[in-house]
Amino acid sequence: MSDTLHQRIENKRDDLIKLTQDLIRIPTLNPPGENYLAICEYLETRLSAKGFSCELIRAFGAPGDSDAYPRWNLVARREGPRPGECVHFNSHHDVVEVGAGWTRDPFGGELEDDKIYGRGACDMKGGLAASIIAVEAFLEEHPDFAGAIEISATADEESGGYGGVAYLAEKGYFDPERVQHVIIPEPLNKDRICLGHRGGWWAEIETKGEIAHGSMPFLGDCAVRHMAAVLDKFEAELYPAMASRHTEMPVVPEGARQSTMNINSIHGGQPEQPADFTGLPAHCVPDSCRIVIDRRFLIEEGLENVQAEVIALLDDLKARRPGFDYEIRELNHVIPSMTDKDAPVVATVAQAIRDVLGQDPDFVASPGSYDQKHIDRIGRLQNCIAYGPGVLELAHKPDEWVGVTDMLDSARVMGRSLQQLLLP
Ligand SMILES: [Zn+2]
Repeated sequence: MSDTLHQRIENKRDDLIKLTQDLIRIPTLNPPGENYLAICEYLETRLSAKGFSCELIRAFGAPGDSDAYPRWNLVARREGPRPGECVHFNSHHDVVEVGAGWTRDPFGGELEDDKIYGRGACDMKGGLAASIIAVEAFLEEHPDFAGAIEISATADEESGGYGGVAYLAEKGYFDPERVQHVIIPEPLNKDRICLGHRGGWWAEIETKGEIAHGSMPFLGDCAVRHMAAVLDKFEAELYPAMASRHTEMPVVPEGARQSTMNINSIHGGQPEQPADFTGLPAHCVPDSCRIVIDRRFLIEEGLENVQAEVIALLDDLKARRPGFDYEIRELNHVIPSMTDKDAPVVATVAQAIRDVLGQDPDFVASPGSYDQKHIDRIGRLQNCIAYGPGVLELAHKPDEWVGVTDMLDSARVMGRSLQQLLLP
């Protein structure tokens, strides 16, 4: 890395701290989706002054979008004086609820001993700030660069990204004609490159029964017992099958390197009453029982196979178990995404980590998902990674923080990557 770019980034330490604090102090809580316009306007003001053309884009009609809580996104683009490729830094601007257990002001942006505290500090306002500092330093150092740089701040990643990256991808913002390299500065640690994530399938399964008096259950048909048979079958057949499947994806933690399924909820029979209700239950055989499954799957499996496997087990019960009937409703699905290790953005950032930090990067994949899924599936852009400062395990926790030194180091890696990609 040129020493001067390094020095420029180092000189922006105070600016980086102030920027991170300012972003944390705009509480962009999701749900419900507060202050999205405020944070986009803040960034628009800053980036316009640096020569970016900025678009504020509201995801009209996206889940959660309303006049009370509009889903605002910012896309800022700066063209270089010469043609070339476009590097896009995408950060989500929303943060999750505060939760209990804080000893700091969650929206205070307190700085102490190299750490900035606040909800969203690590996930991912620190990454957003680091990418902005990296880009601004690069533009000062190399005003004659080739290509274009984009910075986006997008809504709703924490609730699936449909009012954010998915919406922008639908509108063509991640078309490979427009954007060639995407870096998402999620908090994956400054020496790790995240290549992608597993898939997910969420579905509600309902077993059917027949209501009758609880003293004569033989006159009805208990939907909860039918559900017990479903869960038994999962234990006996599905869980062992999933545990036997391993992925080539470098998913961390290790336990997520196989297929997994969480039973998210179960409800059957009389609805739950309010806590202050003092009555006793009526005696009924439940005629319906519902579970929600959260099935995380591997890139090697395929969504259709995952769905068919569960349906085959249910159909088998239907064929063998007297009175058994069911319905299944998909709630949502996410396709796995994995960028090739030889893809240009991976090779570039990996080399930048070697140059700047003097160590080989770790390649990882995420057990859950993040906005890469939309860039891949809707945008059809496969040259995308997550790379950014912050300790992943601190995300969504009380007293979340991001390290200033880590932000500066990852900004240097980003700046070095820009040199590789945009200086022919
Ligand atoms: Zn995040």
